[in-house]
Amino acid sequence: MALKIEFMNERWFKYIWINGEFVEADKATIHVATHSLHYAGAVYEGEMAYSGKVFKLEEHTERLIKSAKTLRIPLKFGFEDIIKAHEDLLTKNSIEDAYVRPLIWRGSESLNISNPVLSSNIMICAVRASPRKLCGGKLYISDWIKPYPRSLPPQCKSSGHYSIAPLIVEEAMEKGYDDALLLDWRGYVAECTTSNIFFVKGNLVVTPIADSFLNGITRQVILAAAKDMGLETREEYIRPEDIENYEESFLTGTAAEVKKVDSIDAGDKRIIFEKNEITRAMQERYRKLTRGI
Ligand code: PMP
Repeated sequence: MALKIEFMNERWFKYIWINGEFVEADKATIHVATHSLHYAGAVYEGEMAYSGKVFKLEEHTERLIKSAKTLRIPLKFGFEDIIKAHEDLLTKNSIEDAYVRPLIWRGSESLNISNPVLSSNIMICAVRASPRKLCGGKLYISDWIKPYPRSLPPQCKSSGHYSIAPLIVEEAMEKGYDDALLLDWRGYVAECTTSNIFFVKGNLVVTPIADSFLNGITRQVILAAAKDMGLETREEYIRPEDIENYEESFLTGTAAEVKKVDSIDAGDKRIIFEKNEITRAMQERYRKLTRGI
């Protein structure tokens, strides 16, 4: 039995690239026994296309392939094929600006946890990008923590990592926040649900060491850009009680881009970031890198 993929609205681009072919988005189907649907074993990327080109496509494709290899999902398409498929998808849909989503998942031949005959599938779809919010707003430190790295490999972008992300965001919103900041298993500041975090004091830009959470591509771009702009950068372990020593904070992510954090509630303390000078400079630099303006 096949399950029709329900498409939300007109924001979706018409054609999906799936296993080497184009299918109309509202005709694409997956099987109800899809292994990755049951066992959260898909791997994916979140990418942005600007003026008909995916920003950092090579880096995203490398991470996608690495994530699949980490979970031992065999690949039918290699690096060059996946790059070409992106280009074809953008051309076929006449895409200028979009959020682009490649996904690799195990097929539906068996529900056994491990079965060597399981097929591997890949699709790339795209959705019209909505305007980015420059402000990340209000955060609080969630009771949920990032998984222990030996329970889920942090650099593998798999659906399994995201199973409780909707719950974390919904809890945050119910409490009047925009998102939650998560600590790692040691109690160090890690990241938000789908973005990395930075702190600023004077000309010093600090971000946590990415050994328990995703070392985001945007995080790496921003670290390099900050260095290039003559700012001092550091990656270090940050405890929740250190947050109040900083004057600015911002979030980074492919979809989030660079967003200012207004405040973080840590226990019964509200840390308000009044300044935004470096944050604005990073936003400008990122806009230049992605949009050339
Ligand atoms: N952390 C998590 C958990 C994410 O989902 C994302 C978004 N992919 C990021 C960080 C930022 O990563 P990137 O800059 O590569 O988009």
